[in-house]
Amino acid sequence: MGGTTSAWAAAALSAIAMAGIVLARYFATSGLFALATSRARPGLYEGLGPQIRREIGWSAMSAVVYGIPAGIVAWGWQAHGWTRIFTDIGDWPLWWLPASLFVYLFAHDTWFYWTHRIMHEPRIFRAAHAVHHASRPPTAWAAMSFHPIEALTGAIVVPALVFLVPIHVGVLGLVLAVMTVMGITNHMGWEIFPRRLVHSRLGHWLITASHHQRHHEQYSCNYGLYFRFWDHLCSTDRGLATPR
Ligand SMILES: [Zn+2]
Ligand SMILES: [Zn+2]
Repeated sequence: MGGTTSAWAAAALSAIAMAGIVLARYFATSGLFALATSRARPGLYEGLGPQIRREIGWSAMSAVVYGIPAGIVAWGWQAHGWTRIFTDIGDWPLWWLPASLFVYLFAHDTWFYWTHRIMHEPRIFRAAHAVHHASRPPTAWAAMSFHPIEALTGAIVVPALVFLVPIHVGVLGLVLAVMTVMGITNHMGWEIFPRRLVHSRLGHWLITASHHQRHHEQYSCNYGLYFRFWDHLCSTDRGLATPR
């Protein structure tokens, strides 16, 4: 009995701690890119103060939604050996390190594309996704600006994948870093990646701000997260907008 109670307490504590970490990560990273925006594109967010305050409010709530499952799984990993996260680089062949990065990003992208399309059904849109589209135009602070229902659909992806697909803890960190940085830069309102890449043959398959900006302008296209694979396959890709 006592053991069960303390296990629950430890899991809850881990969930609270992780919510705090995700919240701190949001303020640090979005803050950094907002600062970069004020340097690189002065005045881009002018007059958007009230919108940015709403973006921060929704994002803070999303940070808690993201932190809870991640914190519980992290506790289970440490306390009970849950998940297929490994720490010894020799446990799997070396080629699996980059391959697992791609598998995680592609799986997340696939989940995101289809749940995102469902969320554009008018009734579901009003309930779950209108919050995210209230950012017109989005800013660096909109990276986690989701209604809690939408946040939940995003929050379960990586905690579920770690039970299914083996991943080195360092690669997992990389997945989270890519997720964080692309979430921000895609909403920042200007293109941080060189034109040479964005308009290259590789860029034809990658999503950056130029692509996602068009989703925020036109709604019914460019639904993907990292890759344009599903948008191309389902003819929902309308090419790039021209963010400043
Ligand atoms: Zn967006
Ligand atoms: Zn949308």
